[in-house]
Amino acid sequence: MSSGSELPSTSPVEIVSIGTELLLGRIQDTNSFWLAQQIADLGGSVARISIVDDDLPTIVGVLRDAVGRGARTIVTTGGLGPTPDDLTVAAVADLLGVGTVVDGPTVQDYLRRRAIREEELTPALRAMATVPAGASIFPSPAGWAPLIRADLDGCAIFLLPGPPQEVQAIFARYMADHFGGAGAGRAAVHRVYVDMWESEVAPLLQQVMDAVPGTYCKGYIALGNQRFLPIDVVARGDDEPGARRALDRALDLLARRVAEAGRDFQR
Ligand code: AMP
Ligand code: MG
Repeated sequence: MSSGSELPSTSPVEIVSIGTELLLGRIQDTNSFWLAQQIADLGGSVARISIVDDDLPTIVGVLRDAVGRGARTIVTTGGLGPTPDDLTVAAVADLLGVGTVVDGPTVQDYLRRRAIREEELTPALRAMATVPAGASIFPSPAGWAPLIRADLDGCAIFLLPGPPQEVQAIFARYMADHFGGAGAGRAAVHRVYVDMWESEVAPLLQQVMDAVPGTYCKGYIALGNQRFLPIDVVARGDDEPGARRALDRALDLLARRVAEAGRDFQR
């Protein structure tokens, strides 16, 4: 990544949240929000977030489309449980044109954790140990469903469970390395406040984005109070100090432009 503008090899990233309850508005899709934040911090570029039904052809379709669009990483969440609506493993097996297998090391892990013999393995645990043939399996630090990785056409597809605490534990344990490896770059972000209307400050934000490559600036009118408009400045760099330096340059420039306009800037 040079001057923070090239994509790391793990990007573009697509996030797919799977679950009918998300589409019915019963459960808020907080996983994609959290994952997008983490991936952005690690310098990754999320190109799309999709929310889909617990429906096999729909899940296969969204994954196939993402690979077809050139995604280098897909992260799915949900649908890894033992119930009939949990279809993510079957969908990925379909996508890859492979069958499913019961993963031996995962079963052994369950037997150890439950202190039971193989004959006592419940159908539910057997279902959770079922994975697409040929996939890589990583035990979960937080729950029963393991992290599953499958690869297709240069795209790494990671299957994560639905419960947010499991998503977060698995990401910290395994995924951060995937996104944060050598040459992945980093992002740095700071929120500032200006006493300007969004339309007044917008040209200044554009000047900052043009002057500091890889920078993104956004004013949030929905978060504003009567006087001050919050603005996020997100900068990218080859590493954390590089991202910090780009952020400082962007913030200094914005502060100057706002001062020239005779307005207040709170850093
Ligand atoms: P699942 O593995 O799909 O059965 O989901 C397990 C649990 O995680 C359920 O309580 C879901 O409502 C919750 N969950 C699933 N997907 C998400 C998501 N994208 N954001 C927040 N919670 C979720
Ligand atoms: Mg579900």
